[in-house]
Amino acid sequence: MQPIQSVKGMNDILPEEIALWRFAEEKAREIFQRFGYSEIRTPIVEKTELFTRGIGEATDIVEKEMYTFQDKKGRSLTLRPEATASIIRAYIQHQMHVKSHQKKFYLIGPMFRHERPQKGRYRQFHQINVEVFGIDEPMLDAEVMFLACLFLREIGLKEVSLEINSLGCPNCRISFREILQEYLLQYQESLCPDCNRRVYKNPLRCFDCKAPQCKEILSNAPLILDFICDSCNRHFQEVQNFLRELNVEFIINGRMVRGLDYYVKTAFEIVTEHLGAQNAVGGGGRYDGLMKDLGGPDLPGIGFALGMERIILLLKDSAKLQQDNNQMIYCVLLGDRARAEGFKLAQKLRSEGFIVDLSYEDRSAKSQMRTANKMGARMAIIIGDDELSQGVVQLRDMHRSSQWVVEIEELVPELRSILNES
Ligand SMILES: [Zn+2]
Ligand SMILES: [Zn+2]
Repeated sequence: MQPIQSVKGMNDILPEEIALWRFAEEKAREIFQRFGYSEIRTPIVEKTELFTRGIGEATDIVEKEMYTFQDKKGRSLTLRPEATASIIRAYIQHQMHVKSHQKKFYLIGPMFRHERPQKGRYRQFHQINVEVFGIDEPMLDAEVMFLACLFLREIGLKEVSLEINSLGCPNCRISFREILQEYLLQYQESLCPDCNRRVYKNPLRCFDCKAPQCKEILSNAPLILDFICDSCNRHFQEVQNFLRELNVEFIINGRMVRGLDYYVKTAFEIVTEHLGAQNAVGGGGRYDGLMKDLGGPDLPGIGFALGMERIILLLKDSAKLQQDNNQMIYCVLLGDRARAEGFKLAQKLRSEGFIVDLSYEDRSAKSQMRTANKMGARMAIIIGDDELSQGVVQLRDMHRSSQWVVEIEELVPELRSILNES
């Protein structure tokens, strides 16, 4: 029979890689908590409407990339393609704006988009998300960007840079939309079919197009930054001032619009040269009207998402993480009585906090030692019936290949002293 394979673009994360994942996740938790964020977890499946309303009908995500299906009652459900809409939905649903003072959230978990899989980009992918509601001060925009950069720096990714832009407010966007549309319509015949649609529905999206002819046309297009209103401009200038105060280096990229409709004012991306064409590690921005659009209070919001798979790729490329010193103890048990006693001893050592494994099968000493070796065990405890009757065990230091006899009562302190010093 043919073995069953995983779904295309959805990958297993194997034990060899988990250390990197946990390192990044734990660092994120630690840093975000330092900045006053609380963790939130929302379901992977939501009503489709949440994303069509939240992300925007005329975006690539909603038009092409969502995993949408009907449940048995015919309701349309979608595997979440991003986290912001879900977190806002939860915030509104639990009336957190009245019932709690919590404004700052983070979420770590899988997202789903039906895209062509490529290196660092998958159909099930993982994100670290940060969202803040109810504050529209430029100071916060700067701090949120600082936080994203700080996290990447603290996990050891140094060669990343911050690109920022202002996308204006709905007011400045109306006039810019017409200016951009007019410009693009001059080149209508050269634009790709997608952009031909976008020109009418949502011309700003053309900046996201990867088709070379469109990129060329867009490279000379008017930029929203030159058309934003005074109040948006003041906000953007202040954001930059606060970034300078935080010593965050940045460049202004007027062509960066992000793939989502809901951004207003500040938008940003964190890019690296190491990932080739797919060079964004993450990004985010402000989305002041989104909570109201989703039926909640009219509170501003800002956030970012970082792509875990890309972070892991970069971590693998950059300085190797120091391997955790293996602290495992492997019990080699010889004979029926030793197996029964050793089994109990293993549980006792685990309850003392040691990492312990054993051979559950009755195998030769040689074969059990080979397993201990393969698993990279630091210590082996060898117990035979002879040892048991004398109340002792053999202790073997697998790194130093030395072996000695220890009384069972002395085992815990002995192991503790050896493992603590290594
Ligand atoms: Zn404006
Ligand atoms: Zn195009």
